[in-house]
Amino acid sequence: MRCQDCNKFVAFDDGNVDDVEVELDEDAGTVTITGRVVLPCAECGAELKELSVDETVEVADEFNDVLAVLTDAAPVGLKKTVTPEWVDKHVTVKYEFDGDPDTEFHERAQTTVKVPIKKKGKVIGHKERKIKSARYMKTYKGVRVSGTVKRTIEVADPEFPVTASDDTADFDHTVEEQSSAFEELT
Ligand SMILES: [Zn+2]
Repeated sequence: MRCQDCNKFVAFDDGNVDDVEVELDEDAGTVTITGRVVLPCAECGAELKELSVDETVEVADEFNDVLAVLTDAAPVGLKKTVTPEWVDKHVTVKYEFDGDPDTEFHERAQTTVKVPIKKKGKVIGHKERKIKSARYMKTYKGVRVSGTVKRTIEVADPEFPVTASDDTADFDHTVEEQSSAFEELT
């Protein structure tokens, strides 16, 4: 596109993801990815386009069910103690990042297209076909966020011998859009 600063047609430099924030709701185990991915001018670095990012990843879903974890951990005589009501009353579940999440610029060229397979005029499935001409290839850009979330389960029942348990789950989430869909800043 045309850069106002350079006053000529320019290519994009690698995207900048410094304005992308990754936060974790420590009660719900939900990761929120917000901010913007900026495409700068390859010649002068002026900001040319941006993509607004606002997505959530339910990392809590990656963990085993709390009820099942505590039932497993309970001694034989106490397994029946572990009910949803008991969990509500005595158990605290907290989530935190295990190390800082990674945030990096993501770029992908689509090299195949899905084409329909037809039989007697009806679509019966799809197959992948390689795109031969660069003109028809689509380029997607955005941000890739990955990290590890640690879950801690605390039990506050003096009758229950297991008091804490923790586990971790990895997440890897990509937000991408065709660069033509990014918003122009100039
Ligand atoms: Zn420029």
